[in-house]
Amino acid sequence: MSDLLNVDTALENILDSVSALPAETISLPEAHKRVIAEDIVSPIDLPPFDNSAMDGYALHCEDSTAASLANPATLPVVMDVLAGSAPSGQLQRGQAARIMTGAPIPAGANAVIPVEDTDDDWLKGDTVAAPAQVQLYRSLRCGENIRRAGENIAQGDSVMRAGTVIGPAEIGMLAGIGCAKVAVIRQPKVVILSSGDELVDIHHPLKPGQIRDTNSYTLAGLVRQAGGIPIRLPIAADTLTSIRALYRRALEINPDMVISTAGVSVGAADLVRVVMDELGDIDFWRINMRPGKPLAYGRLRGVPFFGLPGNPVSTMVTYEVLVRPALAKIAGREIKQRAIQATLADDMKSDGRRSYNRVTLQQGADGLIAHSTGIQSSGALMSMVLADGLAVIPEGRTFLPVGAVVDVMLLRELD
Ligand code: AMP
Ligand code: MG
Repeated sequence: MSDLLNVDTALENILDSVSALPAETISLPEAHKRVIAEDIVSPIDLPPFDNSAMDGYALHCEDSTAASLANPATLPVVMDVLAGSAPSGQLQRGQAARIMTGAPIPAGANAVIPVEDTDDDWLKGDTVAAPAQVQLYRSLRCGENIRRAGENIAQGDSVMRAGTVIGPAEIGMLAGIGCAKVAVIRQPKVVILSSGDELVDIHHPLKPGQIRDTNSYTLAGLVRQAGGIPIRLPIAADTLTSIRALYRRALEINPDMVISTAGVSVGAADLVRVVMDELGDIDFWRINMRPGKPLAYGRLRGVPFFGLPGNPVSTMVTYEVLVRPALAKIAGREIKQRAIQATLADDMKSDGRRSYNRVTLQQGADGLIAHSTGIQSSGALMSMVLADGLAVIPEGRTFLPVGAVVDVMLLRELD
C-alpha cells in the first residue's frame, strides 16, 4: 500500500500546478452564473436616499405622541411625494406629507405613518389627490418606516468578493450599484476524450460486445456544472493513429483543460499512454483511493491534462475528488469542500485504500443517516444515479460497522 500516492498529496500537487484564467469584461445580463474576477466595492449608498417603507404620511414623530384611534391627531397635508420625485421644501412641525413607498423622505420628517393607521382610505382606490388634512390613529417612534440611506450597503462597503458565482441576488445587487459591465473569469474550455473499440456513441446501434460511451456525457455535465464549456470529441478507436489524431485535434481547439477517460488501467491498451507521452509531460499515478487508483496527470503541450480511469464510477469519483477542485481553481471559483457527517446504516468494507462509497442520505433523529446504494462496482453507474454523496472510508480501515460516523462528500444539494 505504501507505494500508493496519498489522495491529499495528489490533490495538492494538482492544485499547485494550475491557476485561474484571466478576466474578461461582459455586460451584466450575460454575467449570470459567471465568476466575478475582482472584489466589488459599492460606489454609492444603497438606498441612495432616506425613503419611505410604506404608503402613508411623513411627519414629525413628535406630532403623533398623543394620537390614538379614540383621540386622533390631525395634521394638514402640505406635500405629496411620489416615488421618483425629489421633494424640495422643508416639512415643518405640525405638517404632514403624503408619501409613497420608496419615495424620498422630505427634509424635516422623521417618521412615516402607514395609510392604514390614518383616516385616509386612498388604498381603496377612491382618493387620487392628497386630502387637505389627515388624522393619525396612533403614535410613531422616531425613524419608524424610514429606510435609511446606506442601510443596505454603504458607499465603500464590500458588495462581493472575487470568486463569487453571480446568482440572481448578486446580479440584482450589481445592477443596484450601477455596474453595466462586469469583469468575470473567462470560462474554461474543457475538451473531453474517449477511446476504446468497445465504445459506441448514442447515435449508433450497439453490436455484440459493445457498450455505450457514457463517460463523455457525465463529464460534459460535470464540466458544465463547474461553469466550464465542455467540448466532446468523437470516440477514437484503439489504434495509435486514431488516438494520436484525437489528441492532436483536442489541442487544436486551444483548450484550458483536457480530460480523457480509459487507457490508464493496468492491462488497458498501452496506446493511450504512448500518445500521452508523445504530446506531453504526464505522470502516471497510482493513488491510494478506491475507486480510481490509476490516474494520469500532467500537461499536454502546456494544457492541464487528466487521464481518468475508464470505469464510469471511477471516472466520476476521481473527477469529484481531484478534477472538480482543479477546475474550480482554473475557473476562479472558491474551492468548496462539500463534506458533511453522517451515520452509517450499513456495514462498509474496503481494501484499506481511501474508499468513496456511494450512499443515499436521510435525515434521522440525530443527524443524517447514510445507506449504501447497493452494488458498489466501479462500473455500476446506477450507484451514482442513486447517490446523494460519497461516504469516505479512511485509508487503513477495512471495515466500518453500522453506527460509525463518516464524512460524506455531497454530490447534490439535499432537500
Ligand atoms: P480501459 O481503461 O480502456 O481498460 O477501460 C476500463 C473500463 O472502462 C472498461 O470496462 C471500458 O469499457 C470502460 N470505459 C472506458 N471508456 C468508457 C466510456 N467513455 N464510457 C463508458 N465506459 C467506458
Ligand atoms: Mg479501453
